[in-house]
Amino acid sequence: MDVIDLDKRPRSKLALEPKWANICFTCGTCASACPATGLVPGWDPRRALTAIALGLEQEIIYSKWPWVCTLCGRCQYKCPQGAELLKTFRQCRTVRDRDKVPGPLHKGTMTNIERGNNLGIPKDDMLDLLAGLGVEMEEDEKRTPCPGFYVPVDEEGANIIVTINSKEPFAEPDDMKFLWRIFYTAKENWTVSSINWEGVNWGLFSGDDESMKVQVGRVLENARRLKVKTILYPE
Ligand code: SF4
Ligand code: SF4
Repeated sequence: MDVIDLDKRPRSKLALEPKWANICFTCGTCASACPATGLVPGWDPRRALTAIALGLEQEIIYSKWPWVCTLCGRCQYKCPQGAELLKTFRQCRTVRDRDKVPGPLHKGTMTNIERGNNLGIPKDDMLDLLAGLGVEMEEDEKRTPCPGFYVPVDEEGANIIVTINSKEPFAEPDDMKFLWRIFYTAKENWTVSSINWEGVNWGLFSGDDESMKVQVGRVLENARRLKVKTILYPE
């Protein structure tokens, strides 16, 4: 477990104005709507917002709260005062030191920046996998065979470009077939990119704005390179 020296913690950039401690009705609507309420003893969106407004932001940033918050936005949607709860809680992630980001989020983000997907799957391995899965779909006797099916990689001018969650090629490749079957049945004109196909933006979830922008930019670049108008993020 990391031990954090409270006296050496950096000042944050949350900059939530103290007026929010008064603007908030303390009605608890946000806490009632929040799926994370109660997951960290003592914290819910109402208490977290008030604590930050009163200057206790370091206590929130270095707590588990911003990381059990799913960033779903229900609190903000429900708040009668229009408090920017979602933005504030994501910012708590952003200002945390990168080596204190829990779990694999930061590591996966860096792997994506360096190698194009969160798990670092090599391009050739991915292309081999997609080709093999295409053959399985074409010959599938357990369900319904899909004669003529193949995974269209880097096809220019398709209607849709699909991103992929790297967890699927890594551990659950058959899960990709559900979407492909819909495309096949609908005779959809679709494609996947051979590079930078990752569809789970851990830069977003880890609060790393720069990495998030790079990943979004890559997906857009794929769409532009292949002249595809619609981007589908199944995740
Ligand atoms: S964004 Fe976070 S705090 Fe707000 S409702 Fe969702 S989980 Fe709760
Ligand atoms: S819903 Fe809005 S006004 Fe009500 S407690 Fe939450 S932050 Fe305050």
